Amino acid sequence: MSRSESSPNASPIPCPLCGSRKSALFDQRSFRGIPVTNRLCQDCGLVYQSPRMSEAQLNAFYESEYRQLYQGSQGPDRKDLAVQEGRAAALLEFTRPYIKEIKRHLDIGCSAGLLLQSFRGAFACQSVGIEPGTAYRDYARQLGLQVYASLDELHAAQEAPFDLVSLAHVLEHLPDPVDYLHRLRTDLLAKHGRLLLEVPNLYAHDSFEVAHLVSYSEHSLQQVLRKAGFETLALQAHGRPRSHLIPLYLTAIAIPAEPQDGYHLEPEKRVVWKRRAGMLRRWLLTRLQPDRAWIPAEKAAAGAGERSA
Ligand SMILES: [Zn+2]
Repeated sequence: MSRSESSPNASPIPCPLCGSRKSALFDQRSFRGIPVTNRLCQDCGLVYQSPRMSEAQLNAFYESEYRQLYQGSQGPDRKDLAVQEGRAAALLEFTRPYIKEIKRHLDIGCSAGLLLQSFRGAFACQSVGIEPGTAYRDYARQLGLQVYASLDELHAAQEAPFDLVSLAHVLEHLPDPVDYLHRLRTDLLAKHGRLLLEVPNLYAHDSFEVAHLVSYSEHSLQQVLRKAGFETLALQAHGRPRSHLIPLYLTAIAIPAEPQDGYHLEPEKRVVWKRRAGMLRRWLLTRLQPDRAWIPAEKAAAGAGERSA
């Protein structure tokens, strides 16, 4: 992909949470030769990429990445599978107190299908996935899972509703997370269903990649969920399966909620300070306790269950 095709649009993006155009520079870097700029909304405190690629440019980027990653490969490699297995175990453990029964589970961005497989094993539920990457989709299908390439394919097959919908490391890629979650709630989720989400944590994860359009804190993730019509049941910052000490990820479970009268967005304060403090803490833990700060990818599957081994 040439630079002219991949460079982000020059026009500033309104805040994906509150719509404000008042923003300040938060982070600027180069990601594989592509400039990536993240801005801080001056009205609500959300950190988001602006300018960013158009939807067509993003699709081209994903296609090119996929080609690069999967050329000559039969499917996901061992390291990747170990991380996915560890993540599935951690998400299942997190979810258990809030879910007694699942009949139908949809995992959006299901990758190799290990999360679906793990929940199917625990709840004996029907499992459906969406995965645009061909090699990963094929891998998941070999596990006996029903996997579609896109949301449109899923809609055409009339599979909804689901009593659990999960999105692990998907929300940060979406340009309009509030609208996406709102539509997910009305079109895909059963009335008393559960939403399970995991995203990188702005205050511990160095995640300003070109495909990450929004960077979430616990506060901003909850605001997005509320605006989309969800009530958060539980929200946890943790490192599993990659760290015993650094809270790299935010995992949330939420239920559909009727929009409340007089709902107001609560702005987040001191975002710049919290990012600095979080990254300093990460730096210190990495130097003081490297073995506990970072679990190698190939050991992530085994390390996921150990909270303080
Ligand atoms: Zn905002």
